[in-house]
Amino acid sequence: MNSAIVTIGDELLGGYTIDSNATWIGRKLIDIGVRTIWKSTVPDQKNEIVNALSIATEKADVVICTGGLGPTRDDVTRDAYCEFTGAELEMDEQYLKELSARFERRGVDMPESNQSQGLVPDMGSVIPNPKGSARGLSCSIDGTWICILPGVPAEMKVMMEESILPELGQMSTNDLFVTNIRTTGVMESKLHDILNSVMVGSPVSISFLPGFSGVDLRLTSEDKTLVKELSRQVYDLAGKYIYAEDWKTLEESVGDCLREKSLTIALAESCTGGLLGDRMTNIPGSSDYFLGSVVCYSNEAKMNLMGVRKETLESFGSVSEEVAAEMAAGAREKFNADIGVSITGVAGPNGGTKEKPVGYTCFGLDDGIKPFSRSVTFYRDRRFNKELSAQTALNSVRLRIAGQI
Ligand code: ATP
Ligand code: MG
Repeated sequence: MNSAIVTIGDELLGGYTIDSNATWIGRKLIDIGVRTIWKSTVPDQKNEIVNALSIATEKADVVICTGGLGPTRDDVTRDAYCEFTGAELEMDEQYLKELSARFERRGVDMPESNQSQGLVPDMGSVIPNPKGSARGLSCSIDGTWICILPGVPAEMKVMMEESILPELGQMSTNDLFVTNIRTTGVMESKLHDILNSVMVGSPVSISFLPGFSGVDLRLTSEDKTLVKELSRQVYDLAGKYIYAEDWKTLEESVGDCLREKSLTIALAESCTGGLLGDRMTNIPGSSDYFLGSVVCYSNEAKMNLMGVRKETLESFGSVSEEVAAEMAAGAREKFNADIGVSITGVAGPNGGTKEKPVGYTCFGLDDGIKPFSRSVTFYRDRRFNKELSAQTALNSVRLRIAGQI
């Protein structure tokens, strides 16, 4: 089963909004074995939307469109849908009542422009929107299922999850099996070399999807056994770089490891300014293992809050493996945690020296058994250096718990 995605909106073409809807939809579809073979982004213009719909329906079994279903003048997707399908709009009085009751409950009169959201085409069906007022539309034309959803990502996602994916899962013969294996701490080219022997001649397609903090490996085949077999070989050869499957994040994976082993963690962050703590606490239930983080940016904060010694700072400098080690020990001690983790680095763009250039970052990990510290240099800009530092520190926690370092 093949799909096409059409995202609608001037802001997507003007570069104001990243087309995250298409990426999210593409991933969700491939997860249930529906391959996206065509994608287009068009402006909020009726003729362009109609044109995209006609190309998409020619090519695919299912077409998912997002955007332009709102009540404002620039939202023309409903009109385009009617022109394309030949449907006429009629007023759904019942929905209009529900909508104005919703506004009433919030203590405001329903704006005139929202009236248009009661209009529904006289063919196909309406997709409920539990998070907003713009309902989706769907119909079948010449064997292709067309679904039109609002552009607001949270609304689009809940409608996909609740209405479209379950139905598609049943329609799809599931003739495509996909496993997404997530790695970090290894360059794409090195990973390629490591896996070369099992990739050559393999009937399973393997794609390398590099992100800035890791490489995802997507294994795809119509034969489930072959995907499993290749996946096992990938684990054998590159296991230490693998932190999760599917779309699980490194912080989720590390959180699970900590919880499983009943370990607690505390952080001392300098150059990342709390970024690692932010990532770890984005995971619901992180209070099971995350005790706290101190952003100790200045030397005084490192000394007063984390117990870093003045002599260590003076002898080795604030960005040094020695200071990182004392920060990690301090975090562990102050929070009474099982593991203390620290990051101190030169985020840039200024402050680099010959010995310690911009991107030079030191990490410490103290588990009370085998504390260690190390340094890495990242060659990115300030933001990316911070992101990579948080990723590296998190990965070292994973590796330590797994007994790999
Ligand atoms: P609304 O009722 O809010 O008008 P709508 O269906 O008309 O919903 P749009 O007006 O196209 O949707 O977009 C609403 C919001 O969703 C905007 O903030 C827009 O930036 C965002 N958005 C739209 N399309 C996408 C997309 N493809 N990826 C990410 N965000 C998007
Ligand atoms: Mg809109």
